[in-house]
Amino acid sequence: MMTQYLALKQEAGDCLLFYRMGDFFELFFDDAKIAAQVLDIALTSRGEHGGQPIPMCGVPVHAAEGYLARLIKADCRVAIAEQIESPEEARKRGGSKTLVARAIVRFVTAGTLTEEALLEPRRANLLAAVCELRGLVGIAACDISTGRMELEECAAAGLPAALARIGASELVVPEGWDGAGTAIGDEAIRRPPHGFQSAQGEDRLKTLHAVATLDGFGAFGRAALAAAGGLIAYLEHVGRGRLPLLLPPVLREPGLHMAMDEATRASLEILSSSAGTRKGSLVDAIDRCVTGAGARQLAEDLSAPLTDAGRIRERLELVSWLHDDPLLRGDLRGALRSLPDIGRALGRVVAGRGSPRDLGQLRDGLDCAWRLHHQLGQRSNLPALAHRLVPDLAGHGALLDHYARALVPSPPTERSQGGYIAQGYDAALDELRRISGNARRAIAALEAQYRDQTGIAALKIRHNGVLGYFIEVPARHADRLMVADSGFTHRQTMAGAVRFNALALHEEASRIAESGGHALAAEEAHFEELVGEAVRVSGAIAATAAALARLDVAAGQAERAAEGGWALPRVVDEPCLAIEGGRHPVVEAALSARGERFVTNDCSLSPNNRLWLVGGPNMGGKSTFLRQNALIVLLAQAGGFVPATSATIGMVDRLFSRVGASDNLARGRSTFMVEMVETAAILSQATERSFVILDEVGRGTSTYDGLALAWAVVEAVHEVNRCRCLFATHYHELARLAETCSALSLHHVRAREWKGELVLLHELAEGPADKSYGLAVARLAGVPAPVVKRARAVLDKLEKGRAATGGLAAGLDDLPLFAAALVAEEVQRDAVREQLSALEVDALSPREALDLLYQLKRDAAV
Ligand code: ATP
Repeated sequence: MMTQYLALKQEAGDCLLFYRMGDFFELFFDDAKIAAQVLDIALTSRGEHGGQPIPMCGVPVHAAEGYLARLIKADCRVAIAEQIESPEEARKRGGSKTLVARAIVRFVTAGTLTEEALLEPRRANLLAAVCELRGLVGIAACDISTGRMELEECAAAGLPAALARIGASELVVPEGWDGAGTAIGDEAIRRPPHGFQSAQGEDRLKTLHAVATLDGFGAFGRAALAAAGGLIAYLEHVGRGRLPLLLPPVLREPGLHMAMDEATRASLEILSSSAGTRKGSLVDAIDRCVTGAGARQLAEDLSAPLTDAGRIRERLELVSWLHDDPLLRGDLRGALRSLPDIGRALGRVVAGRGSPRDLGQLRDGLDCAWRLHHQLGQRSNLPALAHRLVPDLAGHGALLDHYARALVPSPPTERSQGGYIAQGYDAALDELRRISGNARRAIAALEAQYRDQTGIAALKIRHNGVLGYFIEVPARHADRLMVADSGFTHRQTMAGAVRFNALALHEEASRIAESGGHALAAEEAHFEELVGEAVRVSGAIAATAAALARLDVAAGQAERAAEGGWALPRVVDEPCLAIEGGRHPVVEAALSARGERFVTNDCSLSPNNRLWLVGGPNMGGKSTFLRQNALIVLLAQAGGFVPATSATIGMVDRLFSRVGASDNLARGRSTFMVEMVETAAILSQATERSFVILDEVGRGTSTYDGLALAWAVVEAVHEVNRCRCLFATHYHELARLAETCSALSLHHVRAREWKGELVLLHELAEGPADKSYGLAVARLAGVPAPVVKRARAVLDKLEKGRAATGGLAAGLDDLPLFAAALVAEEVQRDAVREQLSALEVDALSPREALDLLYQLKRDAAV
């Protein structure tokens, strides 16, 4: 067995090997140690290898999916070695001691999942292959759970942004490739380079889709085709030769989508929050889809907003139509709510991992689509996009009719027990079932007859996997059946019972076994036929699934807009931005959960007023304002309503967001370095059609350096990039730029000091910020009063020095060096005072009073 195991393990490479033994998948050696740790299951040992006990752990086959899910989450890959013959077959082949033959039937990896239990319903699961050919990077990405496939090419410098957009859960690259100078992580799977060949990729795609040329799908470049070759070769490897569902590749052309780099995606928290969760992200705040497929489509829309005015308008028109007709929207969402995930069911069926339940889902889903086709088709005022989608909802009449006749209402996930083919579909199958049904009844009758005959009321006919049917009586009655001519033959003696056989029982049991076996085989044959039928029309089913998802997205967007009083944006060509009553959907939701109100703000940019400097106190809402405008642009170009009372948006080609100082120590860059790298990217890439938000650039270094950089960056954005830009800053000095930059204007978030307390109004106003309120915010945050007092003294000196000499630090000369000890003492005194004033003296026992005194004395000594 170890020889067989080790050979399979060699084939499995760095995947954990699940080695099937009866009802368990066993893992050995290091695999066992890893799995035991990840899964938190017992690590045992079995036998010896090279004088050492062999570490072992195992998971039951029936619960394997749950364990697989956890291993995949922990970045493991798993090879499944199944028994490919039964023990009887093995015995027949080589005698009683022959080992059952096993083979790896599949690799389970994060990017090649199809199982419902292993996938998140509302998230696409992508596998991407990347390679480089003559200076161009080719990217092939697919979601094999639904068959979607996309090819693109870009310059090496564009790779990180493309990968950030795709967000693949598994990445495949050629062995030995350096990643074209970009940071391709260690987690990428390295595959033999000969798989990544453009001619091979092209041939595979042609054969797959039975076409003589790929021109009908798009003009794919060699690098993209090479990546497709690598992708298909990898899929073939993990599927052991069987390819999953792959729809015709879609060409992603540069310029068709709004460009966003990795940093922008992260800072806008589009699909996941800065904490890495869906909660707190943009998609979470706006997703009202009622199907998983809709939610996946919405996420895709948000990660690749459009730049084609016609397509945006089409989407908006559909959302608007559903927004204005709540009844229709309600009906549509109601119908979609019960819709099974037919895209993924199809993915499983084509990959050869389908179950009768998946076929049932296809039947129910296509039936629902057909009814929607009928309902929507009757409308006279269909928007153009709906008009195009409606035909995709129908056209499955033959399959629907066939499935409706062939399958029971709720088919099981398991095929081994049969019972999923409907009564009346196949007369021969019905007859086999009748025979076995009769035999079952005959067996029930036999039980009564044997009880009469023997006079043993406790006699039972039972069944198990080893003996088949048998008669069982309590041990104390067994003697009566043991006599030679009783008609019963002894089979097994148990602790409290004895088991027998009888001729009539044997005959009925054979009838059941035979007809049951034949019935199962007949159902299997029908199953294969039904699967074949779905595979033949998989393209059309996928189109139906896509149309349903698009309708769900539009209805969800309309619902969200109605819920929040959102506006239909107007997307225009001139590089302007006019947003009235804008809101940040995520911040607003968080505030309203706390019962607080969001203060809306306007934003108005145009070619001669395209750069806003936004000042004002910390916590005043500058970042929120910047982001809300970026998000409104993004939502509009994704084809949805926006959180504002009105919005006119000049099409944005690239969106940049640089918010806050974020460390990326994992990549070996300090806060300030990251800030500068990202600023450099903006300065080199932003065009007149871009929209840029910059939040406190230059904060991560010394005041002078920071101010100087911020100054120069604003000038460059204004003079060179000439893009629309919102720039938040704490440097009052930048206000001077308004004198020289004609398209720049000054704004601030308002605050007031009222009875010595700071009141943040979160309201944007024109003009420069009057003061910083930094100290007031510090007090609000609970910085001890003496520290704030000390800061105020330092500030006074600084400001006086500046007034006198124009130099920032000039006033510090006569300030005693930060009197740390003094401050510490005052803080301490403050704490004691606080403690004493909070004390209820009458409530103290003498003992407690004494303890307190001791404690105060101890604290004072520290
Ligand atoms: P800092 O300068 O410290 O980065 P900031 O001015 O960028 O601060 P934000 O981070 O945008 O401030 O906002 C701080 C908090 O103020 C938010 O978390 C939110 O609770 C509240 N806030 C911001 N904008 C608004 C608004 N328009 N209406 C209501 N509350 C708001």
